[in-house]
Formats: sequence, C-alpha cells, structure tokens
Amino acid sequence: MVRAIVGANWGDEGKGKITDMLAKESDIIVRFQGGSNAGHTIINNYGKFALHLLPSGVFYDHTTSIIGNGVALNIPYLFQEIQSLIDQGVPKPRILVSDRAQILMPYHMLFDAYEEERLAGKSFGSTKSGIAPFYSDKYAKIGFQVSELFDDDTLKEKAKRVCELKNVLLEHLYHKPLLDPDELYQTLLSYREMVAPYVCDVSRYLHDAIQEGKTILLEGQLGSLKDPDHGIYPMVTSSSTLAAYGAIGAGIPPYEIKDIITVVKAYSSAVGAGAFVSEIFGDEAEELRKRGGDGGEYGATTGRPRRMGWFDAVATRYGCRIQGATEVALTVLDVLGYLDELPVCVGYEIDGEVTEDFPTTVKLEKAKPVYTKLPGWKCSIRGIRKYEELPKECRDYVKFIEKQIGVPITMVSNGPGREDIIYR
Ligand code: GDP
Repeated sequence: MVRAIVGANWGDEGKGKITDMLAKESDIIVRFQGGSNAGHTIINNYGKFALHLLPSGVFYDHTTSIIGNGVALNIPYLFQEIQSLIDQGVPKPRILVSDRAQILMPYHMLFDAYEEERLAGKSFGSTKSGIAPFYSDKYAKIGFQVSELFDDDTLKEKAKRVCELKNVLLEHLYHKPLLDPDELYQTLLSYREMVAPYVCDVSRYLHDAIQEGKTILLEGQLGSLKDPDHGIYPMVTSSSTLAAYGAIGAGIPPYEIKDIITVVKAYSSAVGAGAFVSEIFGDEAEELRKRGGDGGEYGATTGRPRRMGWFDAVATRYGCRIQGATEVALTVLDVLGYLDELPVCVGYEIDGEVTEDFPTTVKLEKAKPVYTKLPGWKCSIRGIRKYEELPKECRDYVKFIEKQIGVPITMVSNGPGREDIIYR
C-alpha cells in the first residue's frame, strides 16, 4: 500500500511530525522531490532534529529510507546528516539511494548564490542550496546521474563539457573564479566512494515491495503553492511538490498511491517572497509568529522569520484539490487559543469581483482577502486527546475549515510532540 504525505499550503505545515507518525507504521519511506532546501522538524525520544535530505523514517529500526530519483542529491550533505544522527545516539539508519537520482554539485550552490547576488533586490529569496540550478541542469541534460559515477569515461567527458559551459557564465556574467575539470572529476570520484554502498535500482525495489504488500510512504517537501506548475510561479520551488509527482520521483505506477494525506495548517505562514493574500503585519503578526509552531515561526533551514496570516480557505481548498487530498491533517491548532475571534479568508476580491477560485499569479497579486470571523475558544487545548473534549468554538472552527476545503479532516494536531494528536 502506498501513501503520500504532502502539504496544501506554502510549506511548513507541520508535515515533519505527521510524517514521523506515519513513518512508524511504514516499511519504506521515500523522498521523491526537492533537496536540502527545506526542513522538517521532528521531536522524538532521541531529541529534536531538523531533517533536510533524509526521509523521516530514519529514526525507526524497522524502516528503509529511500532517496528517490526525483531528489536533488547533495552527497556530502547526506553523509553529514547521517553522521549528525549517529552523533545524537540514533542507530545507523538503513538507506538506499536511487541509481537514477541526480547529484547536486558544489557549483549549483555557487550559481544559486551568484544569481541571488546578481538579482540583488529582485531576488527570489532562494535558500542558496543550489536547487534551481540543479533542476535547470537536469532538464538541460547536463546533470550527473548517480549511475554515471561508476563510469570513468562518462565522468571525464561530462566534467569537461560542464566546465566549458559553466565557465562562460562564471567569467562573463558573474565575474567569479572558473571551474577546473580535473578538480570536478576528483570531486565526483569522492562522491562515488561515499555513495557506492547505498546505490540501488529503486523502482525495481519498490515494485517488489508493492508486490509483497509492504507499506510505503512517499514524503513530500514544501506544499502545493510552491509547485512549479500549479503554485505561485515564479515564486515556487524547482521540483513538483505534488503527490502525483511521487509516482515519478520514486518510480512507481500512479495508481498505486491510494491515500494522499494532505497537511493543512490552522493559520497561514510562508517564507520567501510572493503573493500572500491573507498576510497580516505589525503587532498582530508578531504575536502569532511568537506563539506559532514550536518556539516561534522561523524557517527550519534559514532561521528567517516567517510571514504570517489568517487561514486562507481559497488557497487551501485549491492546495488540497491539486494534491488530490483524500484526507487532511490539521496542524498547530493549539496556537490559536489566545484569539478572541478568528478571521478566515473565504474569498478573494479581484478588480471588484469576489472569487472562491485560486487565480494565477498576476491576478493573485491584485487579490484582497474577504474574511469571515469565527469566535475564539480562549483556552489551551494542549493535552486533549479526544475530539469531543475540544471546546465547542474550536470544533466549530475545524468543521468550518472542513466544509470550506471539502476534504475530511481525520487528524488534528494540538502540539509539537508525537502524542499531541487527535484522531477524528
Ligand atoms: P514542515 O516543513 O511541514 O515539515 O514543517 P515542520 O515540521 O518544520 O513544522 C513546523 C513547526 O511546527 C515545527 O517546529 C514543529 O515542531 C511544529 N509543530 C508541528 N505540529 C504542531 C502543532 O500541532 N502544534 C504546535 N504548537 N507546533 C507544531
């Protein structure tokens, strides 16, 4: 049985915790897109971890963690992350890396930083992890696939070809030091050594696992609105964040994905630039930011303060639809207990007309939020384990959101810990 866990919003929906819970019931956990550019925060018996590249199953000894072909594989980063787990007392996880995954190279990070520098004020707010240059190269067919590490001739020839191309930009556009093909080749050899024990024909492995009835979890990063096709282009990430891409980025048939658990946050937050219709500012935003998440809303990878806003039903309904959500986990509901009333954005006003459909970016930039206000519950809901024990106003908020998004909310998260979960 294959399940996917994905986000409906701008990322940081609290997927880490739900993924960790689902990973416990899974045999295999697969990362299928993205790279080390976003992070999951997981709190468990070993401590608090920010995972960027490793799947969330790494804390369990019964699971196999897979880096799928769709991932931007930063090899030294992967090994650092494994080492940091071991250093914190986690038993060495069982990890497989797809032989079709492509390698994020040091120059991808350089190009990411150089381009941000060149764009200066007009930059995209990249995490400078090299993700955009990596995926550009993949589709321009000048990327390095893991399998190619094991063929010297291919490596040498490609290292030369890549340097020729990159050096034109380095010299004439960025005015930065040039790449050396021999050095690049040596780097690739060192990657070969690091990754060799883990390399696997992943789609074949997953094919067999599906036949054997294993439980497989596809772990997404970021959320619907960061998808390059269906999100707020160009303020998006460079690989698809949608469950559908899980089939491609892992190498399994799309019809095997039976359950798409979509994580939705009880209010809105976003990092980086881009339209954010229900955004709030000033003291109101600071209050929510301070109380949000677990110790405040600051980016897991960058530490940047997140932009804050009220729940956006227009964006979330769209985010769930485009994921194909079969069920929703509503997170960080506990944070909202301080509010007298809770504004929910139920429509966008664009050029004098109100719509409930999420528009393309040019129109989105013009959208103004239309709010409905719901009464607050004015108490802490931490520690509650039964849905019926939540205050009536709180249940009404959940019900209202459920009606707005049109997908059953099967889980409500009311704290950062593993046990802070209410099943409905
Ligand atoms: P992801 O990018 O979607 O994986 O988001 P994270 O997993 O990094 O979650 C963001 C933050 O919210 C982390 O600090 C979590 O510990 C915290 N968190 C997750 N669920 C809850 C919740 O229900 N309540 C509170 N207060 N914090 C939560």
